[in-house]
Amino acid sequence: MLSIEVNSEPQKEKQTALSMAQRMKQPPIVVGSGPAGLFCALALARAGLPPIILERGKDVDRRQTDVELFWKTGVLQTNSNVQFGEGGAGTFSDGKLTTGVHGPYVRRVLEEFVNAGAPSEILYRAKPHIGTDHLREVVKNLRRIIQEHGGEFRFEHQFTGFSTENGRLCSVRAVRAQTPEHAYSEAASAVVLAIGHSARDTFSMLLENHIRMEQKNFSVGVRIEHPQEKIDQSQYGKFAGHPALGPADYKLSAHLADGRGVYTFCMCPGGRVVAAASEENHLVTNGMSRFARDERNTNSALLVSVDAKDFGGDHPLAGVQFQKNLERRAFALGGGGFIAPAQLAGDFLLGRESCGVGEVGPSYRPGVRWTDLRGLFSGEITRALQQAILLFGQKIEGFSSYDAVLTAVESRSSSPVRIWRGASGASSAAGLYPCGVGAGYAGGIVSAAVDGMKCAQTILTSN
Ligand SMILES: Cc1cc2nc3c(=O)[nH]c(=O)nc-3n(C[C@H](O)[C@H](O)[C@H](O)COP(=O)(O)OP(=O)(O)OC[C@H]3O[C@@H](n4cnc5c(N)ncnc54)[C@H](O)[C@@H]3O)c2cc1C
Repeated sequence: MLSIEVNSEPQKEKQTALSMAQRMKQPPIVVGSGPAGLFCALALARAGLPPIILERGKDVDRRQTDVELFWKTGVLQTNSNVQFGEGGAGTFSDGKLTTGVHGPYVRRVLEEFVNAGAPSEILYRAKPHIGTDHLREVVKNLRRIIQEHGGEFRFEHQFTGFSTENGRLCSVRAVRAQTPEHAYSEAASAVVLAIGHSARDTFSMLLENHIRMEQKNFSVGVRIEHPQEKIDQSQYGKFAGHPALGPADYKLSAHLADGRGVYTFCMCPGGRVVAAASEENHLVTNGMSRFARDERNTNSALLVSVDAKDFGGDHPLAGVQFQKNLERRAFALGGGGFIAPAQLAGDFLLGRESCGVGEVGPSYRPGVRWTDLRGLFSGEITRALQQAILLFGQKIEGFSSYDAVLTAVESRSSSPVRIWRGASGASSAAGLYPCGVGAGYAGGIVSAAVDGMKCAQTILTSN
């Protein structure tokens, strides 16, 4: 592991934390060990205020076993999967560390990654990525650093409720290993909600407890897969395959006449499409690559923006319901067992069912069922996806080729809700701090980690 100077223990932060530790009777609690939760916990622990981390999923090694089994057999563990468990949603990803966020925290996040074993090239590359293979190790090392500074990890502990006194948080409730007899409550005055965008039960619980939240627009669509070789040829021309170049990527977007945005997202060169469900009978896709990005296909999400008009109501959780309906339809269209519905791009454009594989072998496991994806979406979303394929085909040769594979459904591009937070950084209950992607304040690994660090700073200076 490369050791680099991480500028994360400035004396002032530490002094503030030490005097606050004397004032705060209980350690802070961080819910979730995704990038937001981990970096919040790391910043708190380094500053001398080590937190308790409640994570509903398992540690990364046991989680990996569950995920591999799911991809092989379609048997899902609802609390240990691609969304839930140590490292959060990005653990089985390409580990792209590109972000639209700027400022000193971004550098600190990258330095902490390197300190925890990520390749040092992420400090200077324009489009840094570390791959799922490095990420799993980095996540474990981050845990060790937090523990060395006094932090406590509780895996398979789900945050299920909280109590307030005079509008201020005073305790949390949790349940261990999903067994009601293992429910307990813990006094707490500062709790960070770094729960990610898939914790639908937790969103509902928060709303029932009058935590202010609102709908947030997001995007839905499919994964599109091409042979990496074709994308290399389109992007590099005669230099395609040159060892210094690495597998090519792309990022495409357009605004359609009806006002909808269409774009590609989370591209995984030399990677695979993964089953990313976290609920029974709900099918979800996403993408993942190893650091080497050495698989045959390239894939990316092909997305259409959706809003309250698509959700059919202004209830704060209407977007969640919209997602759920899509995921249930995708599950049914695949025929069950988390087999994903898939279609050739050419058939999707022509409006006819696909009957079998073409030139591109789909990488999704446990498998795909050839069908007609037009049954999945509204007419408007289908037309937007069709236009996107044709438009992007004008920019990347081969993008709209007949045999490109569409696998559905890509439904969890970002959070469908935003948990309100005021100028103090807290939610409508004082002491409860919404953080990261699930709360609606970040959009990827690095921005979630940055939000986690900022949230720690808020706690360190405001309690
Ligand atoms: C397959 C895949 C590939 C991706 N690829 C990339 C990429 O290459 N680059 C990128 O920037 N982003 C990528 N993303 C998105 C990125 O992973 C997320 O934006 C990021 O992980 C969000 O961080 P977070 O900490 O806010 O939430 P999450 O990472 O979702 O973490 C939330 C954690 O909270 C836990 N939790 C939820 N509810 C509770 C509860 N009630 N009690 C206890 N614990 C709870 C969950 O188990 C989870 O571990 C990918 C996502 C997926 C699924």
